[in-house]
Amino acid sequence: MANDETILDQLKKEIPVDEEESIVLNGNSSVGLVIVDVVNGFCTVGSGNMAPTKHNEQISIMVDETAKLAREFCNRKWPVFALLDSHHPDIPENPYPPHCIIGTEESELVPALKWLESESCVTLRRKDCINGFVGSMEKDGSNVFVDWVKEKQIKVIVVVGICTDICVFDFVATTLSARNHSVLPPLEDVVVYSRGCATFDLPVHVAKDIKGAQAHPQELMHHVGLYMAKGRGAKVVSEISFET
Ligand SMILES: [Zn+2]
Repeated sequence: MANDETILDQLKKEIPVDEEESIVLNGNSSVGLVIVDVVNGFCTVGSGNMAPTKHNEQISIMVDETAKLAREFCNRKWPVFALLDSHHPDIPENPYPPHCIIGTEESELVPALKWLESESCVTLRRKDCINGFVGSMEKDGSNVFVDWVKEKQIKVIVVVGICTDICVFDFVATTLSARNHSVLPPLEDVVVYSRGCATFDLPVHVAKDIKGAQAHPQELMHHVGLYMAKGRGAKVVSEISFET
């Protein structure tokens, strides 16, 4: 019997995400947007070891959706917190090859988001580790992200960026733990916008020829990232609209 269901479809059925269709944001909900690592080094073709080597549809959609969402937030003067992966050249981030070195284009926002740098509603935070919550910690123990939530009295954060299953997921999981531990008032909900997230693609047939590389099939790992985020208590949505 013919069966055109792919292995990928079968795997996704085993761990369904069941995204909530959509959410509507309005001015009363005290919403903040968190953008994770939408920098050249992860998103712009040819921009270093961790960048796509050719056009990548999932990453392009993520950049477009992030730019659109950021514009909607800034038009309303709603707060935006943007994390930028940025590494010192002498401190490698295992297990990854050198990437997003401070002072290079790799650690800068993608062209479609460069305008964020001059917006008063935007807080930029460079981070030198995978987890943006940890990367927001200062030497004195304070946390720039926690302070941002408190200062802006944010109850809902919408999270977008790259990679769904790595930096986005780590940030979401830690933020939810902090919320549950009552150290992140007044935050109530973490929303992950699926079309505003993407991950990198390293299929198994390519990875097997790269020493030490772990296979990372894009569509499956993106799905796994969303699944894990939902499992930790995030709301995963495929559509975001604004009350007019
Ligand atoms: Zn990094």
